Amino acid sequence: MSQITHRKETRQVRVGNLTIGGKDEVVIQSMTTTKTHDVEATVNEIGRLVEAGCQVVRVACPDERAANAIPEIKKQINIPLVVDIHFDYRLALKAIEGGADKIRINPGNIGKREKVEAVVNAAKEKGIPIRIGVNAGSLEKHILQKYGYPTADGMVESALHHIKILEDLDFHDIIVSLKASDVKLAIEAYEKAAEVIPYPLHLGITESGTLFAGTVKSAAGLGAILSKGIGSTLRISLSADPVEEVKVARELLKTFGLASNAATLISCPTCGRIEIDLISIANEVEEYISKIKAPIKVAVLGCAVNGPGEAREADIGIAGARGEGLLFRHGEIIRKVPEDIMVEELKKEVDKLAEEYKKE
Ligand code: SF4
Repeated sequence: MSQITHRKETRQVRVGNLTIGGKDEVVIQSMTTTKTHDVEATVNEIGRLVEAGCQVVRVACPDERAANAIPEIKKQINIPLVVDIHFDYRLALKAIEGGADKIRINPGNIGKREKVEAVVNAAKEKGIPIRIGVNAGSLEKHILQKYGYPTADGMVESALHHIKILEDLDFHDIIVSLKASDVKLAIEAYEKAAEVIPYPLHLGITESGTLFAGTVKSAAGLGAILSKGIGSTLRISLSADPVEEVKVARELLKTFGLASNAATLISCPTCGRIEIDLISIANEVEEYISKIKAPIKVAVLGCAVNGPGEAREADIGIAGARGEGLLFRHGEIIRKVPEDIMVEELKKEVDKLAEEYKKE
C-alpha cells in the first residue's frame, strides 16, 4: 500500500479558535450525550470533556428546543461548538445564528436549492465550516443501487456529491467524515478519500461498541488510518461516558506522537523479578499524569535489572529495588528514594518537567 500523508496537504479550516487541517496535528472531538436543551447538564458534561482533553465538542440538534439552547451553551463553554443537524435547514440557520462554530449537515439532504443556499450563505457570513458526514449505513439510494451495498467507492462518491453542492455555491470551508462500523471498509474509504478530497478529514469508526471492545476496534481502525498520515480531527465513538472517548482518543494520538499536550506512561508488564506493587503504582501515576499538558514520558518499572535500560526514552522514571525506588532519567539512575515516598518523589519530578515545558 502506498504511503499517504494527507494531513499537511489539506485546506486549513478554522473552527472557533482552532485550525483544522494543513498541519500534522489531530484535534480531539467528542459528542455530548445529554439532551441539548438541558443547558446545565450539557455544559456540565462539556466541562468534564474539556478536563479530559477534548478540544472540540459536538451537540445533537434534533429540534427547536435544542437549537434555542445553542447561544446559552456557547456563552458557558470555551471550546468550539459543533452543532449536528439532520435535514432541517431551519435548525441549521438557528444554530448558525446562535453561535455554532461549525455545523454538521449533509447539503444533499437539505432539499430545495434555496434552502441549501440559505444555510451556505449563513455559514459564509459567520465564517464557519460545514462538516459533511458520510455514513456507510445511510448512503444515498442512487449510490446503493450503483454499488449494490456500501463500498468505499460509494462512500467517497457520496462525499464528492455533497462537496460539489457546496463548491458550486463557492463554499470551501469543508470538513469530511466517512464513517463505517466495518473497520476494513472505513480504512479503505478514508484512504480513497485522502487521494481525492482536498479538505480535512474527520476520522471515526461508528457504532464501535462498548468501552473495551469499542476501544480495541477504534484503535485498530483509526490506528491504521492515522499511520498513513490521514486525518485532521477524530472522534472515538463508544457506548460509554464520552469522557472515555476523549481518554481513548488522547491515548491513541499519543502512540503516534500526535498529541502535543499529553504525558505518556511507560510501564512494564511485570515478571518474576518484580520488587514493588507495580500495577497499583502504574495506575496511580497514570491518573496523575492525565492532567499534565506536556509531552513528557514517564516510566514505572518493576525492577532495576532491565528496568531503566528498557525505558531509555523516558524523561523520568522509577524502577523498583528492594525497599526502595531508583529514580532515573533517559536510562541513567539519578538517585535512590525510600519505597514509601517514591511515588510522591516521582510526581514532584514530573511537575518540575512540566514546568520546564511551560517555560520553553
Ligand atoms: Fe520484569 Fe523488571 Fe522488566 Fe518489569 S522491568 S518486566 S519486573 S524485568
